[in-house]
Amino acid sequence: MPDAVTDRLRFARALYDDVPLYDPKRAPVSLDLTDNTNLWGMPPVAEHTWRSMPVARVTRYPSLYAAELKEALATFAGASPDRLVTGCGSDDILDSAMRAFGEPGSVVASSEPSFAMIPIFARMNGLRYVGIAERADQQPDLDALLAANPRILYLCSPNNPTGAVLARELLERAVREAPGVVFLDEAYAEFAGVSAVDLAMRVDNLLVIRTMSKAFGLAGLRVGYGIGAPALVRDVEKSRGPYKLNAMAEQTALAALQHDMAWVREHVALAVQNRERLAQALVQRGYTPLPSHANYLCVPVSNAVAVGQAMRARGVAARPFPALPHVGDTLRISVGPWPLLEQLLTAFDDAT
Ligand code: PMP
Repeated sequence: MPDAVTDRLRFARALYDDVPLYDPKRAPVSLDLTDNTNLWGMPPVAEHTWRSMPVARVTRYPSLYAAELKEALATFAGASPDRLVTGCGSDDILDSAMRAFGEPGSVVASSEPSFAMIPIFARMNGLRYVGIAERADQQPDLDALLAANPRILYLCSPNNPTGAVLARELLERAVREAPGVVFLDEAYAEFAGVSAVDLAMRVDNLLVIRTMSKAFGLAGLRVGYGIGAPALVRDVEKSRGPYKLNAMAEQTALAALQHDMAWVREHVALAVQNRERLAQALVQRGYTPLPSHANYLCVPVSNAVAVGQAMRARGVAARPFPALPHVGDTLRISVGPWPLLEQLLTAFDDAT
């Protein structure tokens, strides 16, 4: 009997045999600068809303498709509610969209380096992942990406981990020439002040993916959204299913959008200011951080893994990205309040 169960399980899980479990090795440290969240905290009215949540929010089901939140997100993003789909973080949007548009074996192509979850989501959904090294100017190699004949072409702006903004003409060409759907991940768009939502409002094959985990400080609540043509987002919504946004998350996110935009803007501006100050401090130490338009800085450092470990031993975590094309080993540092970045610099100095 135990053998039969094992065989059945092996049959059922064949798809997952070579799918790694995402594990960025986040052992506790006193200062974690690895996940690009809002290190100033959460917006005040959102916090009050969260703390005073009525019990009925927990005992009853949430709204099916977060209709109220879609209205507020549409106003914020310059879209319309019929062009929006929400999800349990933008991870959920990416995963559901791959399920919606991919068929077994179809290609998901992404520029590399980029968001580490993309190859995992592709394989999880039975799709074939093709990674293409970016050009020396940190822009995607669009010719090579299109040559892979992708059902789904994933682009990220600002890109994680480099911080580079995607050139608009490359995006427009991708939308024109891609044989399938183009995903544009704008998880950090608020920090860049650049977005392609306007394009997603006009074409039928562009899905812009966004999140409230970064600028809005709500990573733990898991609120993400996608913007695209009504038929496109409806397919994502079908593959995502109902009730994906929990009731507390929806109400808190709504409060942030309705009442906390001044707080959000102020802290986005502070992140940008401190990113530049950190870049200067690193330049003074002889390093050349990549130009970043997000709330993190990617710094070429030799032996980044060893440096990261030595910093961890001092209670500070930054994320090493070994052997990036054209730039070699790098450390990615999330930007937050300046006293935290001073602690980071002390650990960095000790470790290098
Ligand atoms: N896209 C990018 C580029 C990211 O860096 C992240 C988070 N690290 C996500 C998507 C997922 O964010 P979330 O699921 O919290 O919205």
